Amino acid sequence: MCIFCQIIAGEIPVKPVFENDQVFAFLDHEPMNFGHVLVLPRNHYENIEETPVEVLQAIIAAVKEIGLKIKDKLDYPAYNVIVNNGPEAGQKVFHSHWHITPRLDVGEIIWPPQKEYGPGEMEEILEKLLS
Ligand code: AMP
Ligand code: ZN
Repeated sequence: MCIFCQIIAGEIPVKPVFENDQVFAFLDHEPMNFGHVLVLPRNHYENIEETPVEVLQAIIAAVKEIGLKIKDKLDYPAYNVIVNNGPEAGQKVFHSHWHITPRLDVGEIIWPPQKEYGPGEMEEILEKLLS
């Protein structure tokens, strides 16, 4: 059983910050800022592609509710919603999950340098995505 399934099953005791029949959310134990929350489906799906659309809808509704609490109760002005989807994207726990990371200041965000398309490259990508 994966570590998040163990948490949901109560084998690793963790107090939920939100739960319903499809979704479970708790505090990340190594927060980017205090109040960093992980939101996940109760059932085990490895990544976004495996997670059914109706479960994804329940997750994003939960993200909205928890996000409001992060602003109202913890007094943060903003937050990021991050999914590391796949090992190359930094996923370490292979039970799909959404990070809600409270933010005080835009300077906290480390954004990689952005690239520039060469001639025709953007159109080529777009063509592939539309095919
Ligand atoms: P990711 O890199 O997106 O797979 O992130 C996994 C996250 O799970 C990390 O931010 C960890 O700090 C967090 N995490 C792993 N185990 C636990 C745990 N037992 N309780 C709370 N958070 C955890
Ligand atoms: Zn799992």
